[in-house]
Amino acid sequence: MRLYKVEAVVLRARDCGGGDKLLTLYSREYGKMKVMAHGVAKPYSRKRGAVQPFVFSKFLLRRGRELDAVSQCEAVETFSYLGTDLGKIVFASYMAELVDALTPELVPDGELFVLFLDTLRLMADYDDELLLRSFEIKIAALMGYRPVLDTCAGCHRPVGGEVFFSPEQGGVLCAGCGSGDLGALACSRGLVEILKILLSWRPARLHQLKVAPRVKNQIKKILAEYLRYHMERDLKSTAFMNRFRHGFDV
Ligand SMILES: [Zn+2]
Repeated sequence: MRLYKVEAVVLRARDCGGGDKLLTLYSREYGKMKVMAHGVAKPYSRKRGAVQPFVFSKFLLRRGRELDAVSQCEAVETFSYLGTDLGKIVFASYMAELVDALTPELVPDGELFVLFLDTLRLMADYDDELLLRSFEIKIAALMGYRPVLDTCAGCHRPVGGEVFFSPEQGGVLCAGCGSGDLGALACSRGLVEILKILLSWRPARLHQLKVAPRVKNQIKKILAEYLRYHMERDLKSTAFMNRFRHGFDV
């Protein structure tokens, strides 16, 4: 069968000259995939709207020798708030980069697809950075890096009193294990409880969670270090995001 359908969010659209774009999609059916979209950068192309980054579209794809190509496409949700809010564009870019960096090609993950789409939808009305933190810890867990939060990741005993978080050992550490781990970050029992909530609550419920700005900053640092450790490289947009955080601090 030469033609097949996918539903996908556009992660990236790279100009290839001649009006063509190379799209990186995150699809419900096949996970991350690269496809060629011919002529879509031309001003009169009717496909333009459906191939923009972060747009959720339906695609009819044609199998090709090297890359499959877009035969038809139609935007389903354009997340119009992204057109007017730079801060949210930065958040969406960061999420797209995380998905791109952490997922293998052509491995579908329905749970991640729904999480990504739900988070993009919720961002229209809820712009707290906890939404991003929930996305970070959930995508880490879905990709096989679920942090150990119930016991010490070092000695597997219950944690009490002083608590640390170790990106390298993959979770919280007791005082004994934490003092011997140079990469361990300061943490607290309360913060561990918030990490558990971010991991388990549906994103739509997060507006019920109230967290002090100081604690939010600690969580941000811990999850950034955790993801960095697992990705072994800095995401370009992390630095970018730190410069354009207006509108997201509570
Ligand atoms: Zn321990």
